[in-house]
Order: sequence, then structure tokens, then C-alpha cells
Amino acid sequence: MNSILETSVTDCHPANVPDYTPLPQFRDLQLKRLQAVVTRAWRHVKLFQSRLAERGIAPDDIRSLDDIAKLPFTEKSDLRDTYPFGLFASPMKDVVRLHVSSGTTGKPIVVAYTKEDVEVWTSVIVRCLAGCGLHRGDIVQNAYGYGLFTGGLGAHYGAEALGATVVPTSGGNADRQIMLLKDFGVTAICCTPTYFLHLIDRAAEMGVDLRELPLRAGVFGAEPWTESMRRHIESKSSLEAFDIYGLSEIIGPGVACECRRHNGLHIFEDHFYPEIVDPATGAPLPDGSEGELVLTTFSKLAMPMIRYRTRDITMLLPGQCECGRTIRRMGRIGRRSDDMLIIRGINVFPSQVESALLQIEGTLPNYQIILTREQGLDQMEVQVEVTPQMFNDKIGALQGLHERLQGALDHVLGIRVKVALVEAYTLERSQGKAKRVIDRRTA
Ligand SMILES: [Zn+2]
Repeated sequence: MNSILETSVTDCHPANVPDYTPLPQFRDLQLKRLQAVVTRAWRHVKLFQSRLAERGIAPDDIRSLDDIAKLPFTEKSDLRDTYPFGLFASPMKDVVRLHVSSGTTGKPIVVAYTKEDVEVWTSVIVRCLAGCGLHRGDIVQNAYGYGLFTGGLGAHYGAEALGATVVPTSGGNADRQIMLLKDFGVTAICCTPTYFLHLIDRAAEMGVDLRELPLRAGVFGAEPWTESMRRHIESKSSLEAFDIYGLSEIIGPGVACECRRHNGLHIFEDHFYPEIVDPATGAPLPDGSEGELVLTTFSKLAMPMIRYRTRDITMLLPGQCECGRTIRRMGRIGRRSDDMLIIRGINVFPSQVESALLQIEGTLPNYQIILTREQGLDQMEVQVEVTPQMFNDKIGALQGLHERLQGALDHVLGIRVKVALVEAYTLERSQGKAKRVIDRRTA
């Protein structure tokens, strides 16, 4: 069983990590780890044991990587139903850390780490940051929230292990964040992309030009964001923006991250095995097909996750990245299978609204979707902030902008929505994740 813990923090030099291992050798390692984690979960997690028994499967039935499809899925509801410690595979004396992820409804979920789990987590963050071109000597401002949320501490340990200087600002207090970025000569920032948008706005108000700072990398995650948002961020600052992916149920940030080719996110699949399945049927789909990402943790000891349904929609990209890494890449998460809005029977994703807005000159990348129901009919209003110049301009310019936005949204969404232009910086700015949708419809 200890073979699953071969990777320790000290092994993270690019020459030692398995990112470049030839594929056949790599698949052998993955099969051994899959067999080990299935055996571990079967021995120590009652729910998993009973689900295998229902299917008449034993750990010995896993003879190839494809056999993973025989195993039952784990859902977010399983974590809630077994709250707080029902899915732990280690005794509490071996658990060194607990994190809690707040859900939108009901009980939160609890995730646990042994000392070895924290080391694996640290090692994958090192690989993420190294892939972004960061190294010893960089000054990393970590503006992910510290505490029960996995973002802050996850990124923190990895950045320290990389040898960087960490400035643990956590979230909030934008003025101080900007002061430290400037005064400390910070070279990299980790935060949610919407929080960085907030910093861009605030810096402009404070008369600080983020394009003149030595910032060279932004590692943005914890929520989906778009290519248009990348262009906006990179045009307003000196940094190169990287997408990092992760979720508490699997480990926290560090499941996957872009390299400097920005051509998908490399998944550290020696620890997190990805599958894409049809969200409706659960049937496995081949690389290159879009579907729901399902992840299995190979090395998690405290709380192994077998075939965890992330609800994130993406695809595994065929072919190898130009950077030379052999580990697979996934496309950027554009949407989730469960944040879909149904408006008058039409499926609408907030990301579609965002990409339509970002194509139109004169708007800021801040918007809110308000859903109401009038006489049984769903109504959707999109409130969009416009640039101060645009608002001070003649009324005709605003009317023209309104028409262009209306046209773009009608075209993208296929339904008529109400567009409202609001003054810059009047929509609520989030410190963490963006609240894009306000649903006032009652059943
Ligand atoms: Zn690459």
C-alpha cells in the first residue's frame, strides 16, 4: 500500500515528477494506485463496501484501468449524508487537518487529510506553480481565503515548498492588497479571477497602474472564468493569467493547472484520475468528448474519493501538449451541469451571457442576471455595468450600446431578455466568488 505515496515534496524537481513519464509506464503506475485505493476504501469505508457488495464486485475485479467503470459513483450528497466523518478511511489520530466547504443548501461537507495527504497536496501545488514558470525568488501574494476554505492553505504550503516568498494576505481589504503588491514588488498573485477584477478596478481608483508593477503571473481558480476575462485581465495588468482547478472533495486547489502554452489544464493524474461521463446516463465518453468530469483520488489516505461526480463540464483533450508533459489535459471549465438556468424552457448558462458581454466595447466585465416570474412566465434581466466614459457620453451612445447588447444576447441565448445598463461599480462586488444570478422566481 505504501507504493501510493512515492511522491513527496522533495521529489518535485521537474526531473523527478511523473509529468514527463512515458505513457505505458505511467498507466502501470495508475493501475497499481487504483487497485490500492479501491482496496483501502473497501476495507475502511462502510458506504463504499456496501455499494460494491450490491454490485457483486470485490477489489480483485479491478484488473485494468477501464475496470474503473464498474465502480459506483460518489456524489456530493454522499458527503452530506455521512456528515461529518462517515467517509473517513483513517482513524482521527492520523488526521492532521479538516477543511469544510460550505454548500448552498443543507449541511456543509467535511474533508480530511493525513500528513501524507498534505504532502501530496503541497507537491501538486508545487507542480502547478512550476508549470506557471514560478520558482524560488518569486514573491507570491496569496489572496485566497485562509481558514476552512481549502484555497488559502492549499496554495500557501505549495508556494513555500517551491521556495517562493509567500505573502499570506488572505481575501479582503483591497486597498492593502494593492499597497503590498506595489511596495513588496510582488511577482505572482493567487486569488479568484473575480477578486482580481475587483483589484483592477480598485487600483485604477487609487491611481495605481497594475501594468507598471513587476507582477508576472496570476494563478486564478475556484470559479469558472473565460478567455475574454483572461484578455481583459492581461490588458489591465502586467501578468500572464493561469487557470488552476481543484475542489475540496478531491484535495482542494491543485488537481489541474495550465502550463505556459495555455492549451488546457494538465491534470496531475498520478494522483487524480480523470474520466468524462455523459451527465445524464453516467456512461464513459472518449477523450475529446464533452461531458461531466469524474475524478478518483489515487493517493488520498484520510478520505479517498472513488469516481466523484464533480458536475463540472469539460473534456479531456486528445494529443500531447507542446510543453512535453505526458499527463493529460482537460479543457477549461466553461459551465457546470447544475448551474444551468432554464428560462421559458431554454437552457441558459451564465458563461454564455458573459462571453456575449465581453465582446461588446463599452461594458465592464461585471453583470448580474435577475430572474423573476410574471404571470407564470419567466423573465430574465441582465444588468450590465458600462464604462464611466460611456455613461458620461451622449444619450445616443448609450442607446446604441443597449441595442448592440440586446442583439448579442438574443443571438447567443436564443431568447429575448431585458437588458439594463447601470453605472460603473454599482453592482455588488464579491470578495470571493461572484454572485452572477439572483433567482427571485417562486415555485
Ligand atoms: Zn503543457
